[in-house]
Formats: sequence, C-alpha cells, structure tokens
Amino acid sequence: MADADLSFMSSLCMGLIEESILLPYPTLSPERRETLQGVIGSLDQLLSSHAEDFRKWDRAGEMPLEFVEQLKDFGLFGLVIPEEYGGLGFDSASYARTLQEIAKHDASVAVTVGAHSSIGMRGLLLFGTPEQKQRYFPRLATGELLAAFALTEPGAGSDAAAIRTSAVKQGDEWVLNGDKLWITNGGFANFFTVFARTGETEGRPHLTAFIVTRDMPGVSNGPHEDKMGLRASSTTTVLLDNVRVPEANVLGEVNKGFKVAMAILNSGRTGLGGGAIGGMKKLIQLSTKYANERHTFGKPIKDYGLVKMKVAQMVVDCYATEATVEMVASLIDRGFTDYAVEAAISKVYGTEALWHSADEALQIAGGNGYMCEFPFERMLRDARINRIFEGTNEILRLFIALTAMNDVGSQLQELSQSVRGIFDDPIKGFGLMRSYALKHVGLVAGIARPKSRFTGLEPPLSEAAAVFEGATRHLAAAVDRVLRKHGKHIIGKQFASRRLANIMIDLFVLACVISRVDASVKAQGEERARKELEILTILTSQVERRVRHNFSLVDINDDELLKGLADHAFAAEGYSWDNL
Ligand SMILES: Cc1cc2nc3c(=O)[nH]c(=O)nc-3n(C[C@H](O)[C@H](O)[C@H](O)COP(=O)(O)OP(=O)(O)OC[C@H]3O[C@@H](n4cnc5c(N)ncnc54)[C@H](O)[C@@H]3O)c2cc1C
Repeated sequence: MADADLSFMSSLCMGLIEESILLPYPTLSPERRETLQGVIGSLDQLLSSHAEDFRKWDRAGEMPLEFVEQLKDFGLFGLVIPEEYGGLGFDSASYARTLQEIAKHDASVAVTVGAHSSIGMRGLLLFGTPEQKQRYFPRLATGELLAAFALTEPGAGSDAAAIRTSAVKQGDEWVLNGDKLWITNGGFANFFTVFARTGETEGRPHLTAFIVTRDMPGVSNGPHEDKMGLRASSTTTVLLDNVRVPEANVLGEVNKGFKVAMAILNSGRTGLGGGAIGGMKKLIQLSTKYANERHTFGKPIKDYGLVKMKVAQMVVDCYATEATVEMVASLIDRGFTDYAVEAAISKVYGTEALWHSADEALQIAGGNGYMCEFPFERMLRDARINRIFEGTNEILRLFIALTAMNDVGSQLQELSQSVRGIFDDPIKGFGLMRSYALKHVGLVAGIARPKSRFTGLEPPLSEAAAVFEGATRHLAAAVDRVLRKHGKHIIGKQFASRRLANIMIDLFVLACVISRVDASVKAQGEERARKELEILTILTSQVERRVRHNFSLVDINDDELLKGLADHAFAAEGYSWDNL
C-alpha cells in the first residue's frame, strides 16, 4: 500500500512510477455491487418512464417541481450523506456509478442531482462541524433542503479571487452582500454554500465559505436562465442583500474559503466524470443502433470504415474515461489526500471525450442528427458546458501541469539554494546534487532504478508498459528542462504548460487503462480479455503518437509566432486579410 500522501502524477514528473497507487485495479465488493444493482435498476425504471418528458422539458427550458419531488422520494439527494443522518452513505465509486446511470437518461437531471451532492452540500461533508452536520444533513438527505454552490459572480468565474460578495462581521453574525451568477439549482435550492470576501492581505483577498439558507431574510434568486444545453436544469442568479448569517454557519475556517472551494471541486469531480461516462454509453448505444438500421448505397452504414472508425474511437474513449474516473474515485475512497491533479485529469479527459463522442454520434446520424426529433443534438448541446464549469479545461490544464511539477520545482529550488552549500560543504552539496541527479538525469540516461518500471503486469501488457515507461523518462527530462529554462516564470508560459499537461493527461489515462486491463487478464485470462487488450493496443499507439508530437515541440515550436498572430488579431479586433 502506497503512502496516502503520495500523488501518482507528482511522482511521475520525477520519473517515478508509483505503481502501488494504481495496482491492483479497484473492484466493487459483492455487497456494494448488489446495492448498486438494486439502486440502478429502480432508477432506470423511474427515469425510463420520463423519456418523452425529458425531450419536452428541454424544449420548455424547465423541469416541473413535481418531478423534483419524485427525485426526492427516490432518495437521490441523500446519495453521499452518511447513513447515520438518513443518507445512503455512498462512497465516490458508487456515487459516480449512480450519476452515470442518471446521465444516460438525461443530463439536466444528472446536473440537478450533481449540483446538490457534488458541490452544493459537499462543503458540509468535508468541513462541517458535528453540529452543522446534525442540523442540516437529515433534511438534505430527504431533499427537504436542496443544495447549491455559489461561487461565480459577474466579474469572477475562473478568477475566484475577484469575487466582490462581502461578509462583514457584526457581533456574532456575518452580514453578506453580493450577487452570485449562474447558480445551478438556484431557482429552488434552500441551502447554499456561499463564498464571500472577509478581508485581504497586501491586496490578496481572503475568502470564507458560509452556509446560507433560503429562510434567511435577504436571500432571493433571479429568473431562470435561457441556455444552450441542460435547459431543463435550474440556473439563476442568487442575490444576497444584507443577509445575516450566524457565526455557527461558517464552513471551515474564516479566511480559508479558497481552500474549501478547491477541496469541494476536487472531491466532487467523480460526479461529473460519472455523468460523462453515462453520456458516452448512451451515445454509443444510440449511434450503433442508428448505423445498424440506416442504409446507403444498398448497405447499412455500419459496414463503412469511416463509420466504424468513429464508433471504435467512442468505445476506446468511454473505456478509458471509465478506467480513469473509477481510479480517481478509488483514490478518494482509499483515503489518498493528494489526488487533485488526477481528479482534474479525469475531468478534462472525460469531458472532452464526451464532447467528441457527441459530435461523432451526431455525424453518424447525418441530417437526422441535426433534427430536434432525434436525441443527438440535445446531447451535443448538453455536453458542451462540461468543458466550462467546475473549472474550465484551460484553467485545469494549467493546474495539472503546474501542480504536478511543483515537487520537482521545489527540489530544483532546494538545489539552487544549496549552491552556496556546495562550496561551504562539498559533501552535503554533492549529496543533494546526487539525489537530484539520480531522480532525474540517471533516469533519463536509462540507468536502471527502482520505480522506473511496472512490475507484475501480465505478459500481454508488456508493450503498453514499455511505451508508458519510455514516455515517463521523457516526461521527467522535459519537466526538468522546462523548469530549468523558465524557473518560476513557467507560470506565465501557458503554451509550455499546456503541452506538458497534455502529456500528463495521456499518461495518467494510459496508466489507468493498463491497470484495468491487467486486472481483467488476471481475472478472466488473456483470451476472454482479448477485446480489452485490443482497446489497450489502440490507446497505447494513440498516446505514443500524441506524446511524441508534444515532446518534439518542447524545445522547437511556433509559440512566439502564434502569440504574435493572436496579438495582431486582438489589436485589429478581427481578421486582416479579407480579399475584397
Ligand atoms: C450552465 C452553467 C452552470 C453553472 N453552475 C455554477 C454553479 O452551480 N456554481 C457556480 O459557482 N458557478 C457556476 N457556473 C459558472 C462556471 O463555473 C463559470 O462559468 C466558469 O468557472 C468559467 O468562468 P467564466 O464563465 O467567468 O469564464 P472566464 O473566467 O471569463 O473565462 C473565459 C475564457 O478565458 C479562459 N481563461 C480565463 N482565465 C484564464 C487564464 N488565467 N489562463 C488561460 N485562460 C484563461 C477560460 O478558460 C475561458 O475559456 C455555471 C455556469 C454555467 C454556464
């Protein structure tokens, strides 16, 4: 068992494959499997009976509150609330699997449940005091209280530090004033995790998280937003006008709200990941059925290579997302504390795979795909937001690269600080240099060291493992080069960070798939795991090609030209080469 504070990706950036974090692949216990099968079976029954309604509610732009009552009766708002408070006490794996099932039926329903459990009340789960939990959990579990997460404001989305909502202490109360924007469940939620400014140091704001309830005077919401997708879900502004919040409703520590917000988003990511998997499974089902039935040139379109190619890619993407989300859920459930990078990878990969699948499924359906009578256009519209909310994929790519490289960065810093030490105390200095070199240069030069290889994988996985190990050595070398070149200025080098993030995303996903396929071969033998081994072969070649391309651009690229061209367009506010 690996140390609970290890991060697979931070170690990988130093060239270390901490395989005990990912192997063996997590499995469901028989009891958990049975509970889930029961829940999912009845959930399917409930949601299937509303298939036609979901289409209507999308057109209408709203779901009726009577339907939300049915979700409450089912217990869907108590999924992650501990059993002692009346919830189902699901761990992250079971929660992700349930959201997956909901998303197969309708993304608006999935986001309504997800906004409550993944982010709305998760702060209470992670940071709540026993009194706060006792006070709110029983009513959150039944859905008497529905939760929302209120961070975004008109001037503050990605840049959470720019929020203007203020909280001023008066006696033993805080007085909150401000406007929150695009809050999911805002129209009917009566429990809000609200983030407000409670001070600043040298211009840097301090945020604090508060539990705000609808019955506090001064809480209101604006009208239902008219949106591109997730149209039936409630998205509104939430307005706070001199809302008096008791001190007892501070969530976590005063001035530590940024940490609370990040912990909520990291911990809730498997909900969104589960939703992406559900969407992809539904798209595969719809597009294979369509391709089997649709004939052109006297043949079903399933016989054409260009249609097969799309479906095969959708299957690979779905399998890989599932492996990644299940792995992240298991990191959380096994008590790992440093999983933020891996969770961010699952969000970026899963949401982009879903978007790509929705686009390709619509293409397979041709003109019908574009028609509202068919489900494809709705699924495409619904999928789009996932790349924007809960951290845009751009911000998350920067986060992945910079956070995963942080440990290497600190070592480099330690090394440079020890330059004086090298002269004062050559032996001590050499020790530091040697340990750094062993971790990086030695690895890159191919010196055999522990943790530079997978051990114990089944023989048919050796090729995938070799590609992974080779790319890991290159990653460690590239991280080292980039950090030596840019130092702390790497923060402003977004092209370089994005490239490294893309390599890291590919490698983590490949590692999760290696782990999953290895478990399958171990459990059922090579022959019965044949198709999964083929999925691994396809993914391995794709990852190998993509990372090779990205590595080739680390030192020689067109970054400056691209930046210059973008600056030209910004200055012109348009395109400069119209022929007329
Ligand atoms: C349907 C819907 C539901 C939502 N639900 C909620 C909710 O329940 N609670 C809540 O608090 N919020 C919610 N949001 C808000 C959502 O989280 C934000 O829209 C998101 O964080 C992005 O912020 P923004 O829209 O202000 O974009 P901006 O931050 O303005 O970003 C605009 C673009 O610039 C890029 N960008 C910004 N800064 C950088 C940078 N430093 N480097 C590189 N690129 C950058 C972004 O990636 C993006 O492409 C919801 C939004 C929608 C549309």
